[in-house]
Amino acid sequence: MAARDPSESVPGRFDPFAWARRSTREVRVGDVGIGGANPIRIQSMTTTDTRDTAATVDQVERLAKAGCEIVRITAPSIRDAENLGPIRAALRERGIEVPLVADIHFTPNAALEAALHVEKVRINPGNYADKKRFEVREYSDAEYEDELARVGARFEPLVRRCLELGRAMRIGTNHGSLSDRIMNRFGDTPLGMVESALEFLDVCEAHGFRDVVFSMKASNPQVAIHAYRLLADRLAERAGGWSVPAYPFHVGVTEAGDGEDGRVKSAIGIGALLEDGIGETVRVSLTEDPVKEVPVARALAARYDERRPQVAPPDPGASYVASRTVHERRPTRAFALGPHPVGGDAPVRVEVDLGPVPADAPSAVEALAKGLGRLGDLACEGVSLDVASGSEVARARAFSEALRNLPGAPPLAMRISPDLATTLDGWADRLVLRIERPDVELPGRGSAALEWSFEAPTGELAGLVEAAFAGASPPDLVSFVGDPPTHALRLGVALLRERGLSLPVALRHRSDPFLDAEVGLLRAATDLGAALCDGIGDLVCLGGFGAIDRDVGVAYRILQGARQRTSWTEFISCPSCGRTLFDLEETTARIKARTAHLPGLKIAVMGCIVNGPGEMADADFGYVGSGPGTVNLYVGHDCVVRNVAETAAPDRLVELIRDHGRWVEP
Ligand code: SF4
Repeated sequence: MAARDPSESVPGRFDPFAWARRSTREVRVGDVGIGGANPIRIQSMTTTDTRDTAATVDQVERLAKAGCEIVRITAPSIRDAENLGPIRAALRERGIEVPLVADIHFTPNAALEAALHVEKVRINPGNYADKKRFEVREYSDAEYEDELARVGARFEPLVRRCLELGRAMRIGTNHGSLSDRIMNRFGDTPLGMVESALEFLDVCEAHGFRDVVFSMKASNPQVAIHAYRLLADRLAERAGGWSVPAYPFHVGVTEAGDGEDGRVKSAIGIGALLEDGIGETVRVSLTEDPVKEVPVARALAARYDERRPQVAPPDPGASYVASRTVHERRPTRAFALGPHPVGGDAPVRVEVDLGPVPADAPSAVEALAKGLGRLGDLACEGVSLDVASGSEVARARAFSEALRNLPGAPPLAMRISPDLATTLDGWADRLVLRIERPDVELPGRGSAALEWSFEAPTGELAGLVEAAFAGASPPDLVSFVGDPPTHALRLGVALLRERGLSLPVALRHRSDPFLDAEVGLLRAATDLGAALCDGIGDLVCLGGFGAIDRDVGVAYRILQGARQRTSWTEFISCPSCGRTLFDLEETTARIKARTAHLPGLKIAVMGCIVNGPGEMADADFGYVGSGPGTVNLYVGHDCVVRNVAETAAPDRLVELIRDHGRWVEP
């Protein structure tokens, strides 16, 4: 029997197989409560210069009118912090009551000033009282304690002021901007992020200050998921159990970028956490007008505000992953599907769910051929048809025949009820048997590869799996389709682990045609991304986005966002704020136009020199605003070109990529 996850041993354990919101205390931010029984709150941040009162007030008003419930404003200096007072007053004059948060990095004095004017202060434990120098040095225990005492002394005045004025605080850790002290002891890891936040919580709790919200952001959704989970575990341990209301979490993926990439990456990280019941307030960071972040955050949160806690299914006897806080792809045995191995070390395969059997096979294959022709470098590694009843068998055969005449046609899967399997053997490369009842008779293997698709509520899944594996020899591939999809899949995989079965798993997602296109994209990214970030999934079967090339494109975007299969350059771009030194949206678009064809390369585009270099995390090359009209270029964390004119910077970046042997011609 596989071991259960150690985090589940905390009293009143977190149940990964049944959705429920984490129990949290309410933290008031002005009139808006975060956590407790409140809905998930939506946040965003201004991008204006904080000293430009009129522009900032206008932007806050636009955000509030778009549905943003809490607005953050950067306060890089005391003068910026002082201007939060007039900003707040002007907003109240306009009847805008939205609570404000001051964003503080490096300037404790600005935090003290800001707390006089706004309802909440966000501090970054990595740079509240530390400068980042990327110094490698050993700290003895005594030196480490001295450092903690120094940081505590710098932080205490803010804690006392927040306590006195009834302000809330976010302890907002970012991967990539951890202090040298933490980096040297714990590394740039989820554990380091958690330890960094807890050091500051110790100071808060020592003063009896508990109006604290946490965040653990990273541009890599996997890192963010692991850090938030680890922190949830640690807080539950400190409190003495999962049922004790914990501090609320502000969840987000930082520097997610723009467009579809930014939305997919955000949905993967934020969605996976919301699937765990983690997240009491959400901020989606896009390199776009911040008003555009609001509907994305709202769409992500709405699904969980509506969701009711589930009844826990019977204990499967095993965890679904070896660890919930360390990424490891689930080990599986491979099988051949046409020219592509599936499972084992093979990349996660991409298959398109074509939906029902078409009435006119030749036209459907012609449309498929056109869609495949638009794919460019992306490979469609399979197509799948739903055969709903015996009356569709003849049409399914006609489609199969027409597809065989298409040169380079992808392998064909047919999803059918088990009693029809023999009628289609020889007509498909893979038969996908829908298993919805435990008493169904499963046919033996024919010439096609075999997938068992368990489709039932989570409470019935164990019975289905038990009956299927007791009565027939195992298939090549399995899938679990239930509601919510993440929990059905986890339970199914735990049932496989409990039996010691290393069968590859297909992740199936068909977008609901009645959903808004953006909401459909976010749901696909959440459902598939949450599994992929847990190391589960050997084949993704996706459909319903309107065109074959679109289905394939979305699948590859999700695989890239979950860091499972890289097809394009990875861009890490900050959302911009009042410190930004150039038009970030336009600059990111220009850099993308030159460098988007370099799969495997990570390029950061960051608005300022104060935070940018620290927060580029694991980027290979960095483009960072250093002053008005000037840019610094980085290779890893090393600044190699200083103050180059903005007009010349994209060319210099391309040169640098070339000099480091990472360039290929488009
Ligand atoms: S990196 Fe970007 S978002 Fe972060 S502080 Fe600088 S300009 Fe603002």
